[in-house]
Amino acid sequence: MAKTKLEYIWLDGYTPTQSLRSKTKIVSKFSGKLSDCPIWSFDGSSTQQAPGGSSDLLLKPVALFPDPDRKDGWLVMTEVLNPDGTPHPSNGRATIDDEDSDFWFGFEQEYFLWDNNTNKPLGFPENGYPAPQGPYYCGVGAGKAFGRHIVEDHLDQMIAAGINIEGINAEVATGQWEFQIFAKGAREAGDQVWVARYLAERNGEKYGVSINWHCKPVRGDWNGSGMHANFSNSALREAGSKEVFEKVCRAFEPVIKEHIEVYGADNHLRLTGLHETQAIDKFSFGISDRGASIRIPISTVENGWKGYLEDRRPNSSADPYKVAARIIKTVKSALK
Ligand code: ADP
Ligand code: MN
Ligand code: MN
Ligand code: MN
Repeated sequence: MAKTKLEYIWLDGYTPTQSLRSKTKIVSKFSGKLSDCPIWSFDGSSTQQAPGGSSDLLLKPVALFPDPDRKDGWLVMTEVLNPDGTPHPSNGRATIDDEDSDFWFGFEQEYFLWDNNTNKPLGFPENGYPAPQGPYYCGVGAGKAFGRHIVEDHLDQMIAAGINIEGINAEVATGQWEFQIFAKGAREAGDQVWVARYLAERNGEKYGVSINWHCKPVRGDWNGSGMHANFSNSALREAGSKEVFEKVCRAFEPVIKEHIEVYGADNHLRLTGLHETQAIDKFSFGISDRGASIRIPISTVENGWKGYLEDRRPNSSADPYKVAARIIKTVKSALK
């Protein structure tokens, strides 16, 4: 009888940044449909999600992707539930009360390829530093791009899994890369980014290279990692009016704190006002301004004020479910 490998993926209870976990379930005669993935359980006492005396938690399948690395395999994104079926406190996806697919998101996920032997980015010498930033962004050639074969492998896997990957590029710091993912609605956007992150981590195992999602893994004059959140709804895509864009941008100012709360741990190390960022306690917006909190892309202006906005503050380790949900809330409050 045909056996299928279902890899159940979930987010653990670590704070302030959750990590990915997964385990394999073998099933027979799988239809390839999400509705055919059973609810499963795991030991929450090993993931900081439950006490040992009452450790069983549930995994509820929410999205299904072909597994690019396994014959007859699928990746099953799940949400963590309590034994009574209510959402576990670590379940950010379940807090999305407004899955509005009129909201489109483009997340630019930056990260470092990390050498665990040196505890430094790929391309950093064992002692000291590589040449200063400059040649690495979109660079080509040995000594400028580090780990391209790993990134290429990950890209092929995302495509094979059906992730809406839009592009990749080498970033400003040595060993730093980016991938961009587009999706509609907060849940779908989060599912896509988390599964892409999962594939990056698992792919790295093959090369003995890990993925560092921290927003400022190298102190000093080295760029941190962001996860710029590009967003639009039909009001922005069809605005035709500078005023609508400014109204939406201004709505973000009184809720700096609420946004920063879900924009990733240690963001004060990255949002300094340097390295293409605005300071964490300030808010600004501007056309083409990469030192602003929110950038209005020039293409939006050139299209007659129709298009999208880029919130540059979310960092590389932020939870895309929470980022997207918070943006939907603020944009809706502006346009009501
Ligand atoms: P940059 O590096 O210049 O900031 P990127 O090309 O890396 O820009 O990323 C731009 C992102 O904007 C992409 O992820 C893309 O999906 C997203 N995007 C483009 N148009 C829209 C839109 N209308 N709504 C939401 N996101 C969008
Ligand atoms: Mn980018
Ligand atoms: Mn970037
Ligand atoms: Mn950007």
